[in-house]
Amino acid sequence: MAIVLKKKRKTCAVLDVRWLTDSTAVVRFERQGLKFVPGQYIRVGVEGDPEIRDYSVYSGFEADYLEVLIRRVEDGLVSKQLCDLKVGDSVNVGGPYGHFKLLEEVLDKPLLLVSTGTGISPFHCYVESFPELAFNLVHGTSYASESYDAEHYGERYFHCVSREAGGAFKGRVTDHLRTLEIDPQTEAFLCGNCDMIYEAFDLLQEKGLPTAQIHTEVYF
Ligand SMILES: Cc1cc2nc3c(=O)[nH]c(=O)nc-3n(C[C@H](O)[C@H](O)[C@H](O)COP(=O)(O)OP(=O)(O)OC[C@H]3O[C@@H](n4cnc5c(N)ncnc54)[C@H](O)[C@@H]3O)c2cc1C
Repeated sequence: MAIVLKKKRKTCAVLDVRWLTDSTAVVRFERQGLKFVPGQYIRVGVEGDPEIRDYSVYSGFEADYLEVLIRRVEDGLVSKQLCDLKVGDSVNVGGPYGHFKLLEEVLDKPLLLVSTGTGISPFHCYVESFPELAFNLVHGTSYASESYDAEHYGERYFHCVSREAGGAFKGRVTDHLRTLEIDPQTEAFLCGNCDMIYEAFDLLQEKGLPTAQIHTEVYF
């Protein structure tokens, strides 16, 4: 009996590339029925190139396209190539993967969403997918111009800018977290670089949050 291997990757046409800053873009491509839970990531590469990388889904659950928010790493093998794609080019897409999901049982809890850089991406997906969500979003970046699509979150968005004035807070995300009182019911979601995640995790634990209520997604 012949064994038929199911092809898992999809080839999807690029529909749009929207630049948010000089180095960060939202790349939109065909969804082709790919199912995911808000917070999951997909594996994306340029069609014909074996290199692939992980990207959280940025677009909402109900959109008929997929979007990813990509920081163009100058000497990287994939992010630069994805950001430089044009409408009509194709990407390979696999997945979804990951456990950083916004599950039904936490939807009515106070949510503290903490991110650095493009780590805001899964939170964009949460908010797009569940417009009624009660959340506070803390976003840390180096520069004030990196408040990616901040208007999408209204007053629930709090921008920490570390290298210049211009955000709501001058300093790192963790400096701001230190000043907060945390409701013991809070479900905290941390996404971005590992230094922030380790430090924020310890900090939230010290403030009394059980580890089961702290969810993490490390990018690099
Ligand atoms: C689960 C998961 C989800 C991810 N989701 C996203 C996402 O939504 N958006 C996104 O831009 N990246 C995301 N990443 C990172 C992404 O997978 C790639 O590592 C990144 O795009 C760099 O790939 P590259 O081939 O261009 O460079 P590489 O040669 O692989 O990496 C070069 C260096 O770039 C730095 N770097 C990697 N990612 C970033 C970043 N996002 N911002 C700043 N510096 C970075 C690191 O220091 C890394 O060592 C995610 C990673 C994981 C594990």
